[in-house]
Amino acid sequence: MESGVIRDSGKRAPHPLFGDEHEQLRDSIDRWVREEIAPNVDAWEEAREFPRELYSRAGELGFLGLKYPAELGGQGGDAAHDAVWAEELAAAGASGGVGAGLGAHTGIATPPVFNFGTPDQHERFLRPAIKGERIAALGITEPGAGSDVASIRTYARRVEGGYVVNGSKTFITNGVRADFLVCAVKTTEAGGHHGISFLILEREMPGYEVTRKLEKMGWHSSDTGELSFTDVEVPEENLLGSENGGFHLIMANFAWERLLMSLGAVGGMRRLIDATVSYALEREAFGRAIGHFQVIRHKVAEMATKMEASRALTYQTLRRYAAGEDVIREVAMTKLFTQRACVEVADECLQIHGGYGYMREYGIERAVRDARLGPIGGGTDEVMKEIVGKQLGL
Ligand SMILES: Cc1cc2nc3c(=O)[nH]c(=O)nc-3n(C[C@H](O)[C@H](O)[C@H](O)COP(=O)(O)OP(=O)(O)OC[C@H]3O[C@@H](n4cnc5c(N)ncnc54)[C@H](O)[C@@H]3O)c2cc1C
Repeated sequence: MESGVIRDSGKRAPHPLFGDEHEQLRDSIDRWVREEIAPNVDAWEEAREFPRELYSRAGELGFLGLKYPAELGGQGGDAAHDAVWAEELAAAGASGGVGAGLGAHTGIATPPVFNFGTPDQHERFLRPAIKGERIAALGITEPGAGSDVASIRTYARRVEGGYVVNGSKTFITNGVRADFLVCAVKTTEAGGHHGISFLILEREMPGYEVTRKLEKMGWHSSDTGELSFTDVEVPEENLLGSENGGFHLIMANFAWERLLMSLGAVGGMRRLIDATVSYALEREAFGRAIGHFQVIRHKVAEMATKMEASRALTYQTLRRYAAGEDVIREVAMTKLFTQRACVEVADECLQIHGGYGYMREYGIERAVRDARLGPIGGGTDEVMKEIVGKQLGL
């Protein structure tokens, strides 16, 4: 123990959101990531993809259907189980790319199929997705419509027995290898909030084309695709939810996506701070461990405070969300705060690692690049502030 410093025992009462079952899940995700993912992350980043088999492996372990009912092949868990999945993937070091690829499948593409799908859609899409046999993606963003989702232009013209779709999507996580795309389309000429629907597009459908795999700043092992649709014939039974009711689906999905991103940021910060404290105790300069310089100690204290504040805010919003409360404002605040905190913490951790932080082998420079997506994806910081401001009556 350091002279004059009394450290607490580290014992904490369990958070009321999580019981023994959740803690066991936390341990098994941690073990899986450390044993089967973390050792391969650098190679997969280099290859610009992780193996497709990772989905079936995750499905085999039950991780792709944690909150879905057993009748559909899921684990029958709750929102807190999926929360543990999002946080621990990041905390155990799965990398932003693997987290995004698996997370887009479990966190944003399959939930609308479960929440709004018919029994037939559950069988055709959700059941194989839970097994990791069919990979899912969510397609909302277009070259001309990102933050302003209501202005999408992909148009699904009504024909007998279904729709004919023309248009394009961009920045779609899993877009290159997805077997099906939960896709936002206009179903009225005018579009807008009241003219959006969701169709499930399947990659074998004639006219469905992956036009580009995009190169990115980070998340290298995840695929991010650009897609185009030319006269794609989509049968009636692939309409998800009600016609022209898609804006509600988008908003419901965003809340969950933003919470999952917040949990990922909390997990990522935990990992980075732990690694940085260990480094600061080992690395010596001017005859002492750098962690014993007051400046470094204070940086770590600030980062740990940001992480704890992020965790407290995230868990509180998650608890209220799971209780069915209307938490639009809180979700936007949580996403805004946690993503910014994670960018700042990652950058400070890199600084404490000095030149080694800039080198690839420590993984810190990758964390900085991966974290930078947080204030953009799932709705930008500016959009979050708009939501909060409007919710406050401005
Ligand atoms: C790696 C990656 C993965 C992604 N995965 C998916 C996916 O799987 N599916 C999907 O559908 N989308 C995905 N996206 C898209 C993502 O959700 C959008 O990039 C994001 O919503 C922002 O849209 P945009 O990029 O078009 O930016 P724009 O909307 O063009 O915004 C540009 C700038 O203008 C600001 N701005 C816009 N409107 C306002 C306003 N009203 N007030 C103030 N400022 C404003 C923005 O904050 C931003 O700073 C992904 C993006 C990336 C980069």
